[in-house]
Amino acid sequence: MKTKTARVITYGCQQNENDSERIRGILLEAGYTLTDHGDDGDGGADLIIFNTCAVRDNAEQRVYGNLGALRRVKEQRPEMLIGVCGCMAQQTHVAEHIKKRFPYVDFVFGTYALARLPQILYSVRSQRVFDIERSGDGLAEHLPRHRQNGVTATVSVMYGCNNFCSYCVVPYVRGRERSRAPKDIIREVEGLAAQGCREVTLLGQNVNSYAELPFGELLELVSGVEGIERVRFVSSHPKDVTPELIDVMARNRKVCKQLHLPFQAGSDKVLADMNRKYTKERYLELVAGVKEKIPGIALSGDVIVGFPTETDEDFDHTIDVIRQTAFDMLFTFIYSKREGTPAAKMPPVLPPERVKVNFDRLIAEQNAVSLKKNTALVGTTQQVLVEGVGKSGGDSMLTGRTDGAKIVNFAGNQTMIGKMIGVKITRAATWSLTGEVAANK
Ligand code: SAM
Ligand code: SF4
Repeated sequence: MKTKTARVITYGCQQNENDSERIRGILLEAGYTLTDHGDDGDGGADLIIFNTCAVRDNAEQRVYGNLGALRRVKEQRPEMLIGVCGCMAQQTHVAEHIKKRFPYVDFVFGTYALARLPQILYSVRSQRVFDIERSGDGLAEHLPRHRQNGVTATVSVMYGCNNFCSYCVVPYVRGRERSRAPKDIIREVEGLAAQGCREVTLLGQNVNSYAELPFGELLELVSGVEGIERVRFVSSHPKDVTPELIDVMARNRKVCKQLHLPFQAGSDKVLADMNRKYTKERYLELVAGVKEKIPGIALSGDVIVGFPTETDEDFDHTIDVIRQTAFDMLFTFIYSKREGTPAAKMPPVLPPERVKVNFDRLIAEQNAVSLKKNTALVGTTQQVLVEGVGKSGGDSMLTGRTDGAKIVNFAGNQTMIGKMIGVKITRAATWSLTGEVAANK
């Protein structure tokens, strides 16, 4: 008998990608084979799961668009199963909307229900299933997992958020902070190392709010696992960057000299309205301290443009923060109104056209800085952990990352995959570097 195929489509952050690894693990155990094929025709998957993101409206609209496109496919293949899960699905109004507007969606489950997926797959054979109950801690240590890339991997160490920034839906859809036990994390990292993984990125909505140990100690433990050569972590909240954490980053050679530190806005008034619990001055002091202790550290951040109370003068402070910090990379977002959050009730002071002008100005400023910082690396030799064959240039073009997480493409042979290789940087672009294997000294 032909085995049934399943496809998992993931939106949003690395944590969602990480959850999708567990969804795939459960599907394999349930007897499915995994596919990335399109949804129509005979080659289409027998089961499709959309693992969704609720942080911004455009990600939600894309899911609704894709669900709409499946209406005809489902008419042709009524036995196909369609599921929606993740942060978007956890919201009651979304689950209700899907129930009514998309009657051919077979099951919906929220972020707490991942461990219940095997039962959901069983029940859905006889009825539609909606499970957005907030029961269980969601840690679900026993779940199987299916991973793809062998050289790098992500490991979730905490889930949820207690901060309630006024614009953000995450605390509502991911619940309060829960941290995994260090022994479970270490066991997972040891397993990864045994399979050839060399770099782990520890994940959490606020990874450094990890509660079972001081976060620096967790970094030390993970970097002590034999075979692991690099440790990264994302996303850090500025309020939880302690001197101890900076010390560990400075002295532990396996902890990458890279820090993702979202700042969201430059104006103190907007930061207060956002409920971020720090000021521009405090953020800049933190950055100055990190740069002093870890010279050459690669910094990245998240920033929101067009928060409802942000004026043009407020936005000038955002530009000032990016000029003073000189981020290597910035993740830039236009504010998106999220139902149920305090900011959704704040009337916007700037029209959308003006917000777009500010957004474009921000991108132009940052792109110039990113290019300048990358150009400064031309002529240097960087240690690159080779992740695989690049997207273009044929089988001999390899790709990997520097300690500072910059992508480097270079010609090499595939025996280099999984190894740390010295690469001399020959060319810089805004988002990546090009190089050649450095001659051995
Ligand atoms: N917890 C991390 C922090 O606060 O630093 C970030 C996690 S959040 C899911 C990822 C990013 O999405 C945030 O840093 C913020 O820039 C952005 N974001 C969250 N809510 C948003 C909204 N309503 N509109 C636009 N961007 C948003
Ligand atoms: Fe959202 Fe703020 Fe929590 Fe980050 S810290 S996930 S932005 S509420």
